[in-house]
Amino acid sequence: MASISIALSKGRIYDETAPLLARVGIRPKENPETSRKLVIATNRRDLRLIIVRASDTPTYVQRGGADLGIAGRDVLVEHGGEGLYQPVDLGIAACRMVVAVPKGFDYERVVRQGARLRVATKYVKTTREHFAAKGVHVDLIRLYGSMELAPLTGLADAIVDLVATGRTLRANDLVAVEEIMPVSARLIVNQAALKLKSSQLRPLVDAFARAARGRR
Ligand code: ADP
Ligand code: MG
Repeated sequence: MASISIALSKGRIYDETAPLLARVGIRPKENPETSRKLVIATNRRDLRLIIVRASDTPTYVQRGGADLGIAGRDVLVEHGGEGLYQPVDLGIAACRMVVAVPKGFDYERVVRQGARLRVATKYVKTTREHFAAKGVHVDLIRLYGSMELAPLTGLADAIVDLVATGRTLRANDLVAVEEIMPVSARLIVNQAALKLKSSQLRPLVDAFARAARGRR
């Protein structure tokens, strides 16, 4: 049997994927959250987990570094998704990608007046496309984390980031003024692998689809 791999990231994605893996009958030999290993064997001799940075998941699967992967829609849209099948919305790690500004900042007025908006985000491509579609001029400031800090320090007028409960925004006196898209994690598949290893991958994709339906 060919060896197959699933690319996953630690943190939220793994937390919410773990119950799905269990339902699909995949038991990791070590806990990815505590292990330093980046390649983790499972109870299935033909299947291993590859532990990657969340934003790297589409790249690994697109280029065949992994056959399958689990990635947020935020990451997939920013990546572009070329060369990937996205057959199953797993419904996990649900949140929203939003535009947020400091409380009291008149976002609507700035947009109406056609003024230039300084926007900090790690989703540069998605953000550029969002504002281009609205006809709003933006200066994009690429950050790698803690976007909430940018408006508080005068670095930016607005941020584009993910929110689930809104607690982090509130704690930093920011408010969401626009939703860009709802986000959840999807199963992604390397297109060539799906053809070459279809007898192993098709049943796995179906099992993930059933597991995802079961959790709703
Ligand atoms: P990183 O810090 O490497 O971006 P995270 O664990 O914060 O990794 O995020 C990984 C993925 O989890 C994101 O790409 C997104 O799909 C999802 N995610 C991020 N923030 C939230 C949130 N607040 N609620 C639910 N899902 C989230
Ligand atoms: Mg994070």
